[in-house]
Amino acid sequence: MSNKTFTMIKPDATAKGHTGAILDQIIKAGFSIKAMKWTRLTTAQAGEFYAVHKERPFYGELVAFMSSGPIVAAILEKDNAVADFRTLIGATDPAKAEEGTIRKNFASSVGENAVHGSDSDENAAIEGSFFFSGLERF
Ligand code: UDP
Repeated sequence: MSNKTFTMIKPDATAKGHTGAILDQIIKAGFSIKAMKWTRLTTAQAGEFYAVHKERPFYGELVAFMSSGPIVAAILEKDNAVADFRTLIGATDPAKAEEGTIRKNFASSVGENAVHGSDSDENAAIEGSFFFSGLERF
């Protein structure tokens, strides 16, 4: 069934000039872009987006990193979008990611790992709504 997921290209990847190559890999894997923006999170916004990780030891570092530079936020559509996109990006730690995955190709560390991908349909909807109004999502 065709459904949606949400992604961000993270500040490490935009800073290194990987945005175009990552979008190319996403589109070639069969995802269509339903909404997209180049933007930057404040620390408060990054903290809210990742509030689920508040108790984790890496939370402060993650919030600082995610607000350190521009990101690209996008809603993607494809059959089985959430699971297929998690496969396309690879493991959280790029050292453990499969060959050919986006994180293997472009990420440098477990924290600065190039891309975000929603982990459930419910979170895809919540995360997409964080960045895009109803008018911007189609
Ligand atoms: N993260 C980190 N250190 C860790 C684990 C995760 O900095 O030890 C960061 C990393 O950027 C990751 C994000 O926190 O993408 C969210 O973690 P999660 O476990 O949800 O991984 P993901 O779903 O992004 O693969």
